[in-house]
Amino acid sequence: MSQFYPLFIGGKKVPARSDETFEVINPSNGKVCATVAKAGVEDANEAIRVARETFESGIWSRVPPGERAKMLFKIANRIAKRAQELASLETTQSGGTLRRTMGSDVLQLAQQFTVTGQILNSFPMREELPSIGWPGPSVNVIEREPVGVCGLITPWNFPMILAGWKLAPAIAMGNAVVIKPASYTPLTTLLLAEIFQECGLPDGVVNVVAGPGALVGEAIVTHAEVDKISFTGSTAVGRRIMQLASHTVKRVTLELGGKSPAIVLRDADPDLVSEGALFATFLHSGQICESGTRLIVPREMQDNLVERLVAKASTITIGNAMELTTGMGPVISKAQQNTVLNYIQSGLKEGAILAYGGNIPVLPAALAGGSYIQPTIFKNVDNSMKIAQEEIFGPVLCIIPYDTEEDAIRIANDTIYGLAAGVWSKDVVKAQNIGRRLRAGTVWINDWHMLRPDAPFGGYKQSGLGRESGYQVLFEYSQTKHLHTSMVPDVNQRTWYQLLFDSWAAK
Ligand code: NAD
Repeated sequence: MSQFYPLFIGGKKVPARSDETFEVINPSNGKVCATVAKAGVEDANEAIRVARETFESGIWSRVPPGERAKMLFKIANRIAKRAQELASLETTQSGGTLRRTMGSDVLQLAQQFTVTGQILNSFPMREELPSIGWPGPSVNVIEREPVGVCGLITPWNFPMILAGWKLAPAIAMGNAVVIKPASYTPLTTLLLAEIFQECGLPDGVVNVVAGPGALVGEAIVTHAEVDKISFTGSTAVGRRIMQLASHTVKRVTLELGGKSPAIVLRDADPDLVSEGALFATFLHSGQICESGTRLIVPREMQDNLVERLVAKASTITIGNAMELTTGMGPVISKAQQNTVLNYIQSGLKEGAILAYGGNIPVLPAALAGGSYIQPTIFKNVDNSMKIAQEEIFGPVLCIIPYDTEEDAIRIANDTIYGLAAGVWSKDVVKAQNIGRRLRAGTVWINDWHMLRPDAPFGGYKQSGLGRESGYQVLFEYSQTKHLHTSMVPDVNQRTWYQLLFDSWAAK
């Protein structure tokens, strides 16, 4: 029997009102690893009601920021204590390798809470304006207040980290939340809610409802009592959310898809590029929104670079994500495996040359139910091809040759997306200058995937709206209030009243 995970509403673990459940599959072997209560609209409404009530009670929303920061530090500590459990659960449900979830994800998650707490401690929650002649005299204070109830919707690729990206700032600024994880991967979000409770975060501040996006997600997005939506997922769903949220004029943060370009300049170190470009593309089997999936290389260097990339790709160990020897695990599902294989077919049809991979790897029988794909490298890709324009979300690297650097920049920017980009070169000043011309929210020079909790992350163009992390994210989870207190008690000195009253004309 797989373990049962209830919903988490108002500090209580509860079944869905319909008593329905759904199964979570381990993508490494295709076996059921958990059964989860399947929320419906009524459960979402109840979670929103509880979040609203908790928010209005002031039990968390009126706690001083310094105390809230202490809670974030406590949560970070508790995450560190339960790191092993979180990492192995994350690996089981998402197929992210244990090497990565244990070696990086849990550390990043804990750090997200610590750094958000530190940023909160120095964040300008209150600002007094200098006095001016008119209107006045008066005392004018600008204060930051929580937004209210935030609906957080997360995808399946990095469920734990991405929940942390949203939960840490939402809690920091005093909001109450309803979070809906992706149905493939609800387990670590449910465990996080338990951790928050252990740390003493008041019940009802964080509520978790796992269930279908089209039903539960939309119920949250359209609910009048939800003040803000923070969504991470595909651009297609992001567009719909933006539309739906407009009916109640909700604030919206959207972290969407990408098709990130990496430009290799002629002086780049080929050894560094061949490892770095594969790290950029094949980490988590290419299922990272900012994966460097388009490698734009000088035409005359293409063959040599491809030779190196292929040699290196062949050393990546594919297998069960739970084994520490595994460098690349499965993709999330059989459906995703099919999607990726279809993209590979489309690349072949459009005339790209398959340099490596392109198939389901041969693996031990115990992994037959898993959804694996070989790391795949296409060369001679034209940027107009479907494999270069659409987000594949699988381990497929497109090598696109260029002639001049101006061409390379044009190709890099020729996409609807703008999440990340990169430049590989020994001339870092030149690389930075090119980086400034790339229309993307994050640009790496000679590296990839280097995200940090004190640096804002988000998309240009159709990769999204708003930013996560950095002090910038605290603006996203708060709103601005201007408090004007008049210092003119004598009605006869309020010269501005003459704008309305005739009696002033006589004075
Ligand atoms: P998805 O858009 O299918 O689903 C994301 C979440 O939205 C899930 O929880 C899903 O249940 C929910 N959802 C689906 N339809 C909905 C609707 N109509 N209303 C409300 N919620 C709905 O994305 P996915 O397949 O889970 O994740 C992969 C995508 O996420 C990729 O496009 C990837 O680039 C993107 N992503 C972006 C970032 C970023 O920071 N920019 C990070 C990770 C993933």
